[in-house]
Amino acid sequence: MFSKILIANRGEIACRIIRTAQRLGIRTVAVYSDADAAALHVELADEAFRIGTAAASESYLSIERILAAAEKSGAEAVHPGYGFLSENAEFAEAVEAAGLAFIGPSPSAIRAMGLKDAAKALMEKAGVRVVPGYHGDNQDAAFLGERAAEIGYPVLIKARAGGGGKGMRRVDREDEFAAALEAARREAVAAFADGAVLIEKYLTKPRHIEIQVFGDRHGNVVHLFERDCSLQRRHQKVIEEAPAPGMTAQMRHAMGDAAVRAAQAIGYSGAGTVEFIADVTDGLWPDRFFFMEMNTRLQVEHPVTEAISGLDLVEWQLRVAAGEPLPKKQSELAIDGWAFEARVYAEDPARGFLPSTGRLSHLSFPETGARIDTGVRQGDRVSPFYDPMIAKLIVHGPTRAAALARLTQALKVSHIGGVANNLDFLARLSEQADFVAGHPDTGLIDREVEGLTQREAPDATVVALAAVVSLGILKTPPAGDPFASLGHWQIWGQATRTVTLDHQGERHSLRVAARGLDLFAVHIGDRIVPVRIGGRTESGCQAEIDGRQIGITVLALPRGLGLILDGRVHEFHTIDPLDQAAEDSQGGDHLIAPMPGLIKLVRVREGDAVSSGDALIVMEAMKMELTLTASRDGIVETLSVAEGDQTSEGTLLLSLKPEDA
Ligand code: ADP
Repeated sequence: MFSKILIANRGEIACRIIRTAQRLGIRTVAVYSDADAAALHVELADEAFRIGTAAASESYLSIERILAAAEKSGAEAVHPGYGFLSENAEFAEAVEAAGLAFIGPSPSAIRAMGLKDAAKALMEKAGVRVVPGYHGDNQDAAFLGERAAEIGYPVLIKARAGGGGKGMRRVDREDEFAAALEAARREAVAAFADGAVLIEKYLTKPRHIEIQVFGDRHGNVVHLFERDCSLQRRHQKVIEEAPAPGMTAQMRHAMGDAAVRAAQAIGYSGAGTVEFIADVTDGLWPDRFFFMEMNTRLQVEHPVTEAISGLDLVEWQLRVAAGEPLPKKQSELAIDGWAFEARVYAEDPARGFLPSTGRLSHLSFPETGARIDTGVRQGDRVSPFYDPMIAKLIVHGPTRAAALARLTQALKVSHIGGVANNLDFLARLSEQADFVAGHPDTGLIDREVEGLTQREAPDATVVALAAVVSLGILKTPPAGDPFASLGHWQIWGQATRTVTLDHQGERHSLRVAARGLDLFAVHIGDRIVPVRIGGRTESGCQAEIDGRQIGITVLALPRGLGLILDGRVHEFHTIDPLDQAAEDSQGGDHLIAPMPGLIKLVRVREGDAVSSGDALIVMEAMKMELTLTASRDGIVETLSVAEGDQTSEGTLLLSLKPEDA
């Protein structure tokens, strides 16, 4: 076994790998960019090397710098994690050329599965069914159009070099094909510098079921059963589970067998995943699943397989890379219970899942009943440079129902303050009827998105408490003298303050009147809510509101405050009345970058007339595209950015003037 390894990655997966290495007594070397100098993975590792600036291309994607760090550290092997260089055959080759072991498959196996078209052709030869379609070399548009018509609409155009759902277009009708092909090609060239595509039959009610495989360097290959990853948004996984609901022994055998054949066909060693798509129009059938692609690395969702198999897949990876045979044979592997994983992201479901950046002013996960894989701590920043994942929450139970109940519970007792996050969305999704019934499909989230992302307005008692706390009441503990504690609240019954709070874009203006020692009356519309502040605690206070006793935790946020009560986090921004007046007078005439990012498309020019809702600018930030629209009718007065510009959060992009001005 190795005595020292370097982990060429960051975030939760780097931390995850370090933990197993430590358990096995292997020393660990971390690498980091400037944005990650104080990151958790750097703290956990035995040594760490700076490899460059924040941009991934200057650090985590730099083969040269990672290898220089490996050489300096004396590591004997390199673990690539997932993402970044994990499926880069040149990287694997360079690692081996430097005399180190690559903790992953051979460069030739990575290459064989690197392009979707070549992989499909290879699988067909190995006798594995592939999604019907065209995956040949001819890229002539008219020719591809004919193939699409032959396959029958709807079809899916996919970039052969694709990944992460990029370069993929569903086409429903023949007359839309040409434009969709062009768009898919453009996206593929931009993302992968390769515009070649394949055409597939688009399955209208599919499930994504994948098989975890493992090979060693002695010719053995086993599978570790399936994972169902059908809950997706924009072709990205959201909640995964193992085993797959409704899976029969016969179908599991057929899929496992096909996956093992796929791995054997390329002499696979290490951890890999063979992804299939199953047509579930009338349930799961052993002859209705098709090979989609193979990922030649450890997957994000590997922990659900670990939970049901009782194995540590990173340990297996290390043993195989060190030349040991697989620790178990197929006949020694069995499924125990059920597991789920939910991906917790810094993103705002109610604003189209807009990624969010900022400081994690509060972060708490359940201490028991769930496994939390994370790369951040309370106080860390979610930066705009990398994937905005905060954590993966993994649960295990004896049955699907038991495990799912644990997932819902774990999501509901987790709290994140300081950045928008998808905890509520995930909790609702975990209780969605079709999912609970064991019928996930890849279209479920899209169909249900409205109910899953609806904002719940906080009730009046929460807003009233926030208003009182926002006035700094907790900062002056009563000292016996009632007047001292009242500070500027002069005489009982007369002192009032008006407070404006913003809760997720919704404004609340309230009047707060002091009525006595720590006693207030909050006017919300025509209601008056009495609030009494009781004992102050280190992190908040006890309060009596409308006759009910509650304990609250208060979080100080950069522009407001957060309250945790009844197990939920409520964040409020305090609005300065002067700022508000200024903002009102501008009336949404200014288009501001909501986050740092790249300007991809500018759809208007100075002097253009636009209508409310028109798409003006498309930005790319944190691996996603967002379209900024006009908030009112008007004329583009100034345009301050051009395509290709990098902008920071809060940058003025464009301003409008009224049409008649
Ligand atoms: P990527 O490599 O970009 O992630 P994949 O080929 O793995 O692309 O497909 C991603 C997702 O897109 C799948 O999990 C599935 O939800 C959907 N998908 C892929 N192929 C098809 C198809 N032929 N019909 C319907 N949906 C598909």
